[in-house]
Amino acid sequence: MNDWNGAGLETFHEVPPKYYQKPMPTLLAECRETKKKLGDDLLILAHHYQQDDTYSLADHSGDSLKLAQIAADSKAKYIVFCGVHFMVESADILTRDDQIAILPALTAGCSMADMADMDQIEDCWEHVMEVTENETMIPVTYINSAASLKAFVAKKGGVVCTSSNSAKILTWAFSKGKRVFFFPDQHLGRNTAKAMGIPKEQMALWDRAKDDGGLSAQQIRQSKILLWDGYCSVHQRFSAEQIRQVRQRIPGVQVMVHPECTEETVDAADFSGSTSAILNKVREAKPGTKWAIGTEINMVHRMAKELKAAPHHKYIEVLNPNVCICSTMYRNHPAHVAYILDGLSQGKVMNQILVEPETARLARQALQGMLELSR
Ligand code: SF4
Repeated sequence: MNDWNGAGLETFHEVPPKYYQKPMPTLLAECRETKKKLGDDLLILAHHYQQDDTYSLADHSGDSLKLAQIAADSKAKYIVFCGVHFMVESADILTRDDQIAILPALTAGCSMADMADMDQIEDCWEHVMEVTENETMIPVTYINSAASLKAFVAKKGGVVCTSSNSAKILTWAFSKGKRVFFFPDQHLGRNTAKAMGIPKEQMALWDRAKDDGGLSAQQIRQSKILLWDGYCSVHQRFSAEQIRQVRQRIPGVQVMVHPECTEETVDAADFSGSTSAILNKVREAKPGTKWAIGTEINMVHRMAKELKAAPHHKYIEVLNPNVCICSTMYRNHPAHVAYILDGLSQGKVMNQILVEPETARLARQALQGMLELSR
């Protein structure tokens, strides 16, 4: 068996043993051979957080939005998307009907996206409408959410946002209604609203485990932003204490974290930004600078490797000394990719992600609304 640090091994039941029993160089070489045979019919995309071996097979890499846009612009018949479920849904929504979006490991989900469930979101919406006597509320969903929630947002006059455009989208949403309903990531919502000058008293956190979200009618009425209590299990592990320690250990180090980190962590860092913003900031920094980065470890390791050599000479390490992988994203092992590609080369499609047409139409509206507002 390949050395895969044990992560996601349970997903191998999807793939015949002959694939994962092969040594990694053989597996990768076979993937490249099949990829060549499939030619322009195939496009492989990999999110920044993908493990190195899978990442090496991709035609393009990037964040979820960039990859969905690449998929939308592509003419390829098959889009093999090494990411998590909601990303492949977005690719299916934004591509033509005759294009097929495929997730190599079907168990690759996003724990944060799973924290927002349609029934709970609808219950919350109805409760707030009742308490506020139907005051206008604009829903904004982070792109890390199911297609059904993107469709819900479109039906209620809202849009999607990403970590790169959350400030722009919230500015628009605040101009449209009395309050904003932001889900599923409480931290991105809170950090963005705080940077826009929204005071704490006007932010309410809806606790899914409590009746009426654990909020009084008064708390709801005085809120300008209602935050769902979802979070990213990877980014929530970075802390202000780790920032204090790294500054003590590495004089002159600059700290940059993702806005899915807690408010305390974002406040303690020198900068915060999306994965693309992190990459750009560190790439553009002066040679010889030192960085501690609070985001997924695979991306940080690749940056460290790329920018260590001349002429950059930058020192980069992950902020949390304990391994911080996105364990679900990690499930897209090259064995899965090889199995999918072999199937395609024989005309057999496996692991297609297909969003129901009406949901896709509405979700597309919410995604396109975001793209227009981000221009
Ligand atoms: S890093 Fe967090 S938000 Fe991103 S896909 Fe993984 S669990 Fe979801």
